[in-house]
Amino acid sequence: MVHDNLVKIDLQNTFNNAIIIVMQQANEKDKFAAERRAMVKGQLKSRNIIDPAVLKAMTEMPREKFIPAEYLGEAYYDGPLSIGFGQTISQPYIVALMTQELKIDKNCEVLEIGTGSGYQTAILATLAKEVFTIERIESLSRKAQQVLTELNITNVKFLVGDGSCGWPEDKKFDRIIITAAAPEMPTPLVEQLKIGGIAVVPLGAEYIQKLAVIEKTADGLKSKTACGCRFVKLIGKFGYAE
Ligand code: SAM
Repeated sequence: MVHDNLVKIDLQNTFNNAIIIVMQQANEKDKFAAERRAMVKGQLKSRNIIDPAVLKAMTEMPREKFIPAEYLGEAYYDGPLSIGFGQTISQPYIVALMTQELKIDKNCEVLEIGTGSGYQTAILATLAKEVFTIERIESLSRKAQQVLTELNITNVKFLVGDGSCGWPEDKKFDRIIITAAAPEMPTPLVEQLKIGGIAVVPLGAEYIQKLAVIEKTADGLKSKTACGCRFVKLIGKFGYAE
């Protein structure tokens, strides 16, 4: 009998511990889900991000997965964060704005220059047919690949190299996004953009740029400025020197 009671108590403890673990996990998830919702409302909707597909993607994408452990508490901070190697994950608002300006649909093949943490890549991948992303720092590219694999995002091709030279195949893209500052739109990327395609790129001097939205028409390029911005440098043949 005494032995039976011990077994019962032990089972009860195991059950209680399992409940506590499930509750902790639920709290953990809820904590980030609540922060994510607050970010979408307070940082995006309030600043004229209105595309429902972009808002949905940003409400669902777990930004905390792309953030170095030491900054986890700031995963939904309203600004860029360091991801090492002197590089940054962009401010959520800038990710949303660039994505909204691209007007992506499920038929689009998108070229991204500057994979960084892979957060913008993941947002693009949820909206597009396929994303082709180039990063010059191999460790960042590898880490981003790991996170996207973990999230079961499979429509992305990764490449390590100088993205200012374009994708190294005779291929044209519906959309191009550069997530680093260029002195001007790199010529190989103009060539790889389809007629009717859209490119979003920060253009300007090293410390202050304008976010250009460029449409390629049969008559040439049409450009407008979405906002002022500040990105790290695009380093490469058609960008800045290191
Ligand atoms: N969108 C990214 C994210 O969500 O994490 C942030 C990208 S970060 C602001 C810019 C990235 O561009 C850096 O990772 C940097 O190494 C990369 N980069 C700079 N010049 C490049 C080039 N020529 N080709 C490819 N990547 C480049």
